[in-house]
Amino acid sequence: MAFELHNKKNKGVIGALLKRVYGSLAENLIELLKKPPSRLYARVNTIKSTRSEVLEALRKDGIEAYADENIPDAVYFEVKGPYDVECPGEKRIVVDVRTAVSLMLGADLYRPGILKAPKFDRSEYLLAVTSRGTVVSCIKTVVSSETMQSLTRGVVGVNVSSPYKAPKLAESKAYLKGLIYPQSAPSIITSHVLKPKTGMLIVDMNAAPGGKTGHIVQLVGGKALIVAFDRSEKKVSVLQNTLSKLGLNISVLAVPADSRFAHIDFALASKADRVLIDPPCSNLGVRPLLDYDRSLNDVLSLSNYQKHFLKAARSILKKGGILVYSTCTLTLDENEENVVYAVEELGFSPYEPPEQIPYAEKVSYKGIVGYRFSPLKNDMPGYFIAVLTL
Ligand code: SAH
Repeated sequence: MAFELHNKKNKGVIGALLKRVYGSLAENLIELLKKPPSRLYARVNTIKSTRSEVLEALRKDGIEAYADENIPDAVYFEVKGPYDVECPGEKRIVVDVRTAVSLMLGADLYRPGILKAPKFDRSEYLLAVTSRGTVVSCIKTVVSSETMQSLTRGVVGVNVSSPYKAPKLAESKAYLKGLIYPQSAPSIITSHVLKPKTGMLIVDMNAAPGGKTGHIVQLVGGKALIVAFDRSEKKVSVLQNTLSKLGLNISVLAVPADSRFAHIDFALASKADRVLIDPPCSNLGVRPLLDYDRSLNDVLSLSNYQKHFLKAARSILKKGGILVYSTCTLTLDENEENVVYAVEELGFSPYEPPEQIPYAEKVSYKGIVGYRFSPLKNDMPGYFIAVLTL
C-alpha cells in the first residue's frame, strides 16, 4: 500500500502507520500514546500469595492498589497527573528511554540508566532528559558527579518534580518478596488467552525477561512442561532470574536458541499443546511513547522476522493445539497481516476463544479475527493478540 511518510499531516512514520489502522483517529491516538495510561498493572504471584493478601501488604507499605474487575490475578495502581515539571537547576543529565519512562512517573534516578552526565555537586538540581532532549523530570542529586563515576548501581538523585506520579513499587515489600510482577494488562491477559493446562507441553518462543513464562507456570501450578526459548545465554539468564526471584522456576526448560529454527533443531514436531509467540516488535503501543525513531523499513523487517516464528510454530504445534501471537504494537504489518499470512500461507485456522477477552476490541480483517487493545478504548497500551489452531 502506498502512503506518504514525512509530511506534516501524518506526523511522519508513526502517523502513517497508525492512519492505516485508525484512519482519522490516528492523531488522537498519538497524543494518548505519549501519555502513560491512567492505570499501571501488576500480576499477583498466585503461587506465593493471594490477591487480597497482596492488596493488604501494599496498603501496609502505604501503596493504594486495587483489584482489577476483569482479570482475576491482576492489581492496578492509579497514575496521577499531568503536572508541570519545575526545576531550580538547568544542567541536563541524559538517561536511557526505559529510565526516562520511570522518571516521568516519579521514580528516583539510579546509576545504570544514566548515559551522559555534567559535572555536579551533591544536592544539586538537574533536569533529566532523553538523548533527544525531551525533559522527563527534575532530580535532586544525593551524590556528586565524581562519586557517581565510581558507582555501578544505587540512587544518584531523588525525583523532585515529574509530569506523572505512580507508586514506587520497586521499594515495596510485596515486590521485594516476589509477590507481584509489574506487567501491562494486555500482557497479563495474553497468558490467560493461551489457556495452559496441567500436563501440557507448552512452547514459549520468545520468553525473556520471563513475564509470560512465569505467569504460565502460575496458571498450571508448575504442572506442565514449558520449553522457553530466547536467543542468547544472556537473555536466558535474565529469564531464569525473573523466575527464581518469584519462585516460579518449576518445570521450565530454558533454552538459549534461535527459535526461528526450533522445529529443525529440537525434536518438537507436532508435539506442543500450546505455543506462545511474543516476538520483538516496533513497540508502538508502549506508553508513554518517548523519542520514537523507527522507520517504515524497520517495521517491514520486523514483520518479516516475526513470520519466521509463525513458520516454526506451524511445525511444532499439535493438531488441535492453540497458538497465541501477541505484540505490543499497532501496525497492520506486524499484526493483522501476519495473521493473514499464518492462515493463508501456513495453513493455520482461525480460532475464536469462547470467553470474551477483557479490554480488547475484536477486529476482523481480510477474513481473520484479532483482538486489539488501544489507548482509545479503556485507556490501554496499544497491543494485539491473535489466536490460531491447526
Ligand atoms: N514474552 C516476554 C517478552 C518477549 S520480548 C515476556 O513476557 O516477558 C521479545 C523477546 O524475543 C526478546 O527477549 C528477544 O531476545 C527475543 N528474541 C528475538 N529474536 C529471537 C529469536 N530469533 N529466537 C528466540 N528469541 C528471540
